[in-house]
Amino acid sequence: MNDLTCIIIGGGHAGLGALKAIKETTRGMANGRRIRFVLIDKQSGHVRKILLFRPAVGEEEIMIPWMHWFPEGVEFVQGTVTSVDSGEKRIRYTDTQGNDARIRYDLLVVAVGSIVRRPDPDQGGVALTDPYAAADIRERWRANLRKAVAETNPEERKRLMTIAVGGAGISGIETSAELALAMREEATALGLNPSDTTVYLLNAQERLFPEGPVVVGRKLELTLSGCGVTVLHNRKAIREEAGVVTLSNGDRLPVGLCIWTIGLIPNPALRGMGLPLTPEGQVLVDECYRVQGAPGVYSIGDCARIVDPRNGIADQMTCKEGGIQADRLGKIVMADLEGRPAPVHKKVPLDFYCIGLGENRGLVWGRKWGLNMIITGKPAWKFRNIAWKAGSKLL
Ligand SMILES: Cc1cc2nc3c(=O)[nH]c(=O)nc-3n(C[C@H](O)[C@H](O)[C@H](O)COP(=O)(O)OP(=O)(O)OC[C@H]3O[C@@H](n4cnc5c(N)ncnc54)[C@H](O)[C@@H]3O)c2cc1C
Repeated sequence: MNDLTCIIIGGGHAGLGALKAIKETTRGMANGRRIRFVLIDKQSGHVRKILLFRPAVGEEEIMIPWMHWFPEGVEFVQGTVTSVDSGEKRIRYTDTQGNDARIRYDLLVVAVGSIVRRPDPDQGGVALTDPYAAADIRERWRANLRKAVAETNPEERKRLMTIAVGGAGISGIETSAELALAMREEATALGLNPSDTTVYLLNAQERLFPEGPVVVGRKLELTLSGCGVTVLHNRKAIREEAGVVTLSNGDRLPVGLCIWTIGLIPNPALRGMGLPLTPEGQVLVDECYRVQGAPGVYSIGDCARIVDPRNGIADQMTCKEGGIQADRLGKIVMADLEGRPAPVHKKVPLDFYCIGLGENRGLVWGRKWGLNMIITGKPAWKFRNIAWKAGSKLL
């Protein structure tokens, strides 16, 4: 009998998780047929997206070769998927040479994730979107500090030693903390006064971390301040132009660099793939992650709109949620292959966050039965490192 081909599009946290879960639950066989697994991704390795700020700070490699996870039993194809033909059960992709190619599937998991939101081009600054943007950011602030060494005008020197980070979600908090510490270190090495470096974190809300209690926001702000980060609340960056950031309250901040960390949006490539989408651009799936009107096609992770049928609450775009979906998908696929009722999505209440604030600094907050648990300092940093590894399935 012919093999069944199971294709996973996207080797992010959700795609890697789905591949592992389906391999494990099926043990590579379904109804006496061997399952051939194919992972297709546009990148040459898995990008550790949650560590995107690291190459903006130092020379850290955040791409890991695919072979790390599945040394055998999985075929890797590097290509950009452009569409899914669910009638013919084929996907179409562009390979690394730019050629148009197609592969047939029996089972398909669409896990093409999200992209980092970009501001309009006329808003200036650099968005922390991918490892190339991160390297660009690193080169820019380092070049500014080198220029500051020779600068005799104190105001211009101060500007060169200042960065604004627009967007104070977890990514903006982690980016600003690590940048402030790295700038201080570099300034010292260059003979500059490290306390002349400034990182402004621009927060549109009235406090940090609205997901948790006020006390957590305060603790975060205190630790950030110790790193050299000044948080400006109730202020949005409107645009950066010629070294000046204009804020929503009319203030103007002279900066050497403006970095945007303004959240995630579903992968825009989905718009051309021929799958049913929500108005926001996420794939429409049922309570078992099956794509509507496309037999054998499932979708999970940031790219899918996954709703708990009991209460109508949708999952967020996080590794935590994507990982749980991936584990469940393994069981769903097995049940569907055997013609049994499949498990149904349930939103797991996950009031648990780890935030890194630079080497040996961090904050962990969790809530259970109405009680808050807060861990700070080195133990929180250890938790954060475990979470970063889990975010790339490295545990
Ligand atoms: C800076 C930053 C910090 C974050 N911090 C946290 C955190 O602390 N905790 C947390 O839980 N979440 C965090 N997140 C969110 C988390 O990264 C995402 O929820 C998670 O990566 C989603 O995984 P995914 O597999 O659905 O999608 P993605 O990680 O986006 O992976 C999608 C994969 O699909 C591939 N792909 C895309 N388009 C195509 C195509 N057309 N053809 C082929 N391949 C394609 C991509 O190359 C990629 O490998 C953070 C995100 C960012 C950007």
